[in-house]
Amino acid sequence: MDGPRFVIEASEASSMATNSGLSLLQLLPTFVKSAQTLARPPLSDYHVGADGRICVGVNLEFPGLPLHHSVHAEQFLVTDLVVHGRTRLLALSVSAAPCGHCRQFLQELRHASDLQLFITSDRQMEELQLSPFPTKTS
Ligand SMILES: [Zn+2]
Repeated sequence: MDGPRFVIEASEASSMATNSGLSLLQLLPTFVKSAQTLARPPLSDYHVGADGRICVGVNLEFPGLPLHHSVHAEQFLVTDLVVHGRTRLLALSVSAAPCGHCRQFLQELRHASDLQLFITSDRQMEELQLSPFPTKTS
């Protein structure tokens, strides 16, 4: 019996993007909804990230234990990347803005300043700057 898949290899992701007429970055948010179904239990949110191949991170919350024992999807994703020998996260698509702890967690990644972070909803997608010290652009 096949379990849930948390990694889509780069060749398959590229093929999926081509078949959808999308870039890989445009394809990324389309996985957020399906990632919801993998959360245990789905009490809060769900996230998807990519590094050429697409990796899925989900929240793990444990009934009967305090919420601080949960694993946030961003942490799941980064841990999954490291376990699979990946050293760089290029883009992350999430259903809601990461909590402060996860922002700090992501901020400590190598190349964090280059990480593209997208907040995805049914109606729109916006890019969020991860830097705690945003620079003025105007
Ligand atoms: Zn978090």
